[in-house]
Amino acid sequence: MSQPIGKVFLTLLKMVIVPLVFSSIASGVAGIGSTGRLGMMGAKTLLYYISTSLLAILTGLAIVNILKPGVGAELGLEASPGSIVTSQPGLLDVFLKMVPENPVSAAVEGNMLQIIFFAILFGVFITRVDQRFGKPVQDLMAGLFEVMMKMTRFIIQLIPIGAFGLVGSIVARTGFAAFIPLGKYAFCVVLGLVIHACISLPLITRLVGGINPLKHVRAMGPALMTAFSSASSSATLPLTMECAEDRAGISNKTSSFVLPLGATVNMDGTALYECVAVIFIAQYYFSHGQGFALSTAQQAIVVVTALLASIGAAGIPMAGLVMMSVVLKAVGLPLEGVGLILAVDQVLDMGRTTVNVWSDSCGAAIIAASEGETGLTVFAAKPEG
Ligand code: ASP
Repeated sequence: MSQPIGKVFLTLLKMVIVPLVFSSIASGVAGIGSTGRLGMMGAKTLLYYISTSLLAILTGLAIVNILKPGVGAELGLEASPGSIVTSQPGLLDVFLKMVPENPVSAAVEGNMLQIIFFAILFGVFITRVDQRFGKPVQDLMAGLFEVMMKMTRFIIQLIPIGAFGLVGSIVARTGFAAFIPLGKYAFCVVLGLVIHACISLPLITRLVGGINPLKHVRAMGPALMTAFSSASSSATLPLTMECAEDRAGISNKTSSFVLPLGATVNMDGTALYECVAVIFIAQYYFSHGQGFALSTAQQAIVVVTALLASIGAAGIPMAGLVMMSVVLKAVGLPLEGVGLILAVDQVLDMGRTTVNVWSDSCGAAIIAASEGETGLTVFAAKPEG
């Protein structure tokens, strides 16, 4: 019974994502586009995304190298790693795939990166045409966005029922026995996530944005809980935006640009997890005499490809697990390695999604502060002026 309830709840949330993201970005970009702030805001947002994701990966890398959870683990999987693959998925590839051949099919397929790309351009060009034409389109986008947010708020009221359904069915399916042999690995991922979420991000938020992390976490509470129970950044997005705007006081201009982009591109938790999981798998094979210890250069490849995988991963449950094949392939490990970590993935997915959403919201607050917004309720000290 609990599974269908959770499923319907998730489907309802997914239903609103494409129109919500498109209208919010198009109207957000059109709103900032005319003032020339888009370039600066875009640059700051990207800088934040990439640096926090890298920091998360390096945290995971340090932990997995110190605790070595894969060495001597008995997981009963026998497979020899294939030869080392030298061709890595290029950064260029990820960016090239952002350009949609057909924006309508991107929307049909729910390809968020392509939708975002098109929406940004659409928003920019709304401001480039004669205002006689631009203004009504901008108003239409703003109106569509308002309707989508209203619809979303209605769906959000179902959260308690949805969360019950989701958590109940996960525990019923995975059970607890599978956690024992993989406990050390899961511990490494969780430790990394906790350090990143409770130390690194709060420090950055406080030092760079002058935000009080405790106030901010309280404001974002409902979104973080939904991220945890749904394991989907995209499904949580409507709520993330609502919390950021209504509870943290971040302007719609900033939140509608930073958050939808972040829900797809900025996944600190996923990035950290990719790195820990791949090195765990490498350690497992090597300690069973089936492979090689990862050299520093190979660990660097893991770092870079984990970043790309996190950028490319969709904000849906288990997307990180799917993207792991990219990282495994890059260092020549067998794809069956994914089977080793499957048993604990649902629980880790919940944790990493929470960190993904938390990082997006910290980014939104920092960028709002850097844009001179004074309406935030989460400042450590009230800004002057
Ligand atoms: N479930 C994650 C998210 O939606 C992605 C992942 O699988 O790592 O943020």
